[in-house]
Amino acid sequence: MTQESAASGDSAPGFDAAAINNTPAVNAAAINTGADSQSGEQLLARYTDSLLGVFGTPQRVLVRGSGVTVWDADGREYLDLLGGIAVNALGHAHPLITSVISSQLSTLGHISNFFTSPTQIGLAEKLLSLAQAPQGSKVFFTNSGTEANEAAFKLARRHGGTSRPRIIALEHGFHGRSMGALALTHKPSYREPFEPLPSGVEWVPAGDAEALRASVDETVAAVIMEPIQGEAGVHGHPEGYLQAAREVTREAGALLIFDEVQTGIGRTGSWFASAPMNPAPMTPSHMAPASAEALPVLPDAMTLAKGLGSGFPIGAMLTFGDHASTLLDPGQHGTTFGGNPAATAAGLATLHAIESGDLIASVNRVSAYAEAKLAELDFVTEVRAHGLLIGIDIAASGGDPDAGSSVAPAMVAAALESGFIINATGPRTLRLAPPLIITAEQMQHFIDALPEIYRRSTS
Ligand code: PLP
Repeated sequence: MTQESAASGDSAPGFDAAAINNTPAVNAAAINTGADSQSGEQLLARYTDSLLGVFGTPQRVLVRGSGVTVWDADGREYLDLLGGIAVNALGHAHPLITSVISSQLSTLGHISNFFTSPTQIGLAEKLLSLAQAPQGSKVFFTNSGTEANEAAFKLARRHGGTSRPRIIALEHGFHGRSMGALALTHKPSYREPFEPLPSGVEWVPAGDAEALRASVDETVAAVIMEPIQGEAGVHGHPEGYLQAAREVTREAGALLIFDEVQTGIGRTGSWFASAPMNPAPMTPSHMAPASAEALPVLPDAMTLAKGLGSGFPIGAMLTFGDHASTLLDPGQHGTTFGGNPAATAAGLATLHAIESGDLIASVNRVSAYAEAKLAELDFVTEVRAHGLLIGIDIAASGGDPDAGSSVAPAMVAAALESGFIINATGPRTLRLAPPLIITAEQMQHFIDALPEIYRRSTS
């Protein structure tokens, strides 16, 4: 045995690549869940017996997907208008994503952050380029949105120290479920069972520039907000609000942090919702200094996740400029998995597919189409279409305000029965966040079915 082959894994026990590679029977045996002969109902009983009940009972057991379609364990087909809650940017089983991840895994899947990899460096550069980040800007990779916001919280603390103990967030804002991100999240029922949470967070009414101005002073470390509030029901802010937030924070010396976990990566019809005039410039010219006006509103930090890996777990915090990018010293933050070669390859492939498929233009086309068609429905009281993040408010039935108090959850259930996956963010609000590859025809197919879904949900 040569020294090289002795050191390689090829001769290690159980590592006979020739016997394993592309052998469906071997793969099936490796992940034998016993599901093949079981119905959805049987599998859900197993779920209930084995998984923590924080999600309630799942609506279905899904076994397969392709494009915008998924199939459940009983063979039923669904048009997926939720995309894993704004995650499956390229739909399910996208050939480029599966090929790139598989190829990366078969080359080098995970290393520790004692090391780096070309895909990690490449994805960081690409994100800075897309954000037209100024010189000195940096990226920290995570595995999820909540972790990206944890990093942002620590950034705020490092900026504020003890002299700026306050952090301002927005009412109805959602930032995640880990303790720091939860402390920023507004909904009391999410937060209160876990108090005491990290202190100092206050909320002001969303979209109210004067309220922001009144609360931000030299005791504030940071203001954090979603440019469009997704979990709250897809609510954008009034024109000029993000600019006002930038002015107010700059004057007070506080950081401005945009949580683009749900809205980023093309979801709202531009690469980032806070940069609506910035649809595409994908050049390697990120080395050239960009002006502060390059983004309509340049925050000090921006968090991303969801669509970035098109289903492969990855998140990121971007820090803009020298100050924000040097607040966290070596050793002050970290992660085992964040930014590993497989996840960053998934990120690069996602961005490449969005760019090469001109998907942002398609998002805007399908969004405009859906907005117009949905607004024609007589039971729809308001449509808030921000690209393919769409909030739909539903009327109470028969003029009785109480009769329709849970119409949206009822419609989610009825839609599922009719073969559509959608979601309710509140009693009267539906949310759509389909894969960015969805076509106007697929959207029309759903819109055609909506009146009957509404009728069944209200009768
Ligand atoms: N921030 C926003 C705006 C979100 O919408 C979410 C998730 O819905 C999060 C943070 C948390 O992300 P994750 O669920 O990946 O931790």
